[in-house]
Amino acid sequence: MGERQYVYIHFAVKIIKPMKNKILVIEDNEQNLYLVSFILQAHGHEVFEAQNGHTGIELADKLVPDLILLDIQLPVMDGYAVARNLRQNPKLTGVPIVAITSYAMVGDKEQTLAAGCTGYIEKPINPDTFMTEIESFL
Ligand code: MN
Repeated sequence: MGERQYVYIHFAVKIIKPMKNKILVIEDNEQNLYLVSFILQAHGHEVFEAQNGHTGIELADKLVPDLILLDIQLPVMDGYAVARNLRQNPKLTGVPIVAITSYAMVGDKEQTLAAGCTGYIEKPINPDTFMTEIESFL
């Protein structure tokens, strides 16, 4: 295959590839949940919301989303426990889990990765950079 033909196919695939992804947001804070859902939906993604870990785990198993956004500070079952649980589900092996946390402590990132998260986004959410960060995981 010639280089020009290859480049053409590459671009065609990029254009045809649907941008819409199923994204599960597990977040107990209603304002954060609203903001994150709003930004994701504005970029054409389909958003599913869970306000606690148990609901999040159930929904993740049912939907097998393209991405899971996981707040770390959750009541009852914290985000680390949720991430460890999600990683035990073989259906979700390929699904990126991105932790969202306002903890600014050294070692937090390592803890989220150790719990099975793929990456890490810091709160407060910056609407200008949020989608670029999210898209790097899709
Ligand atoms: Mn929270």
